[in-house]
Amino acid sequence: MEIVRAQAMGFCFGVRDAIDVVRELGEAGTTVYTLGAIVHNPQIAEQLEEINVHVVGDLDDVPPGAVVAITAHGAPPDLQENAEARGFKIIDTTCPLVTRIQKTALDLVNQRYSVLIYGDSKHKEVRGIVGWSGGKARVIASMADLEGWTPTRRVALISQSTSNVEKFIALARDLVGDMVARGIEIRVINTICKPTKERQRAVRELARDVDVVIAIGGLASANTRKLVLAAQEEGTAAYQVERLDDLCPEWFQNADRVGVTAGASTPDVVIDQVEERIQSYEVRKPVLA
Ligand code: SF4
Repeated sequence: MEIVRAQAMGFCFGVRDAIDVVRELGEAGTTVYTLGAIVHNPQIAEQLEEINVHVVGDLDDVPPGAVVAITAHGAPPDLQENAEARGFKIIDTTCPLVTRIQKTALDLVNQRYSVLIYGDSKHKEVRGIVGWSGGKARVIASMADLEGWTPTRRVALISQSTSNVEKFIALARDLVGDMVARGIEIRVINTICKPTKERQRAVRELARDVDVVIAIGGLASANTRKLVLAAQEEGTAAYQVERLDDLCPEWFQNADRVGVTAGASTPDVVIDQVEERIQSYEVRKPVLA
């Protein structure tokens, strides 16, 4: 059985930089509370916990005056203001590519566009972008979410940074058609981040070349789920694994070539471990004399 890695996979700079910031603080003896998981990877979360970098649900769980980190996903602007007003010291590790989306949403609202965000309304990044739009942006997952919606004269579509590129393009096509037919100005800005685009392109190429694809990443990781989906869209069986125990030997029974990819917050060491475990499933075929 041959294991083939995707050309682009694993840690993106946004997650890596965010981890570095809180790790440096933790190692220097500062206790840090991150608002939500800094990384959707249980192994790294456990390591950070050991150096007093704790994940909390909201500010009410943080002791007075403590250091609070905004994660790479970003946060609504009022969160930072509230936290500072309550005496917390804020460390902002928002990925610069998420900051760019937040600013884009704000600019579009200021230019009187009705802003649509293609993404998951419950995702932290998306909630932050909605916050930056002053609560005016509408989150959609499909055209069906526009039922009963009355747009203004100008509509703009942007995306969550980790959306499925093909699905975003398909939605944009439908939306442009609909808006043009209704005489409404429409602007589409593809705000899916470059690392996400590269990883999705790479997993599609990989999927066309292997029998099964394994995407390694936390079960809560949106970008890892999108990698699985992209591989499946190429007609290849694909599975997401968070830990070694998630692997099923049956997935590899008839596989000669196994493709491996990893989400933006998966460290190399976890990828190596998963590959080693997959290799251990190999049933050596008897050599005929
Ligand atoms: S996935 Fe993209 S937007 Fe999100 S942290 Fe990584 S580089 Fe930044």
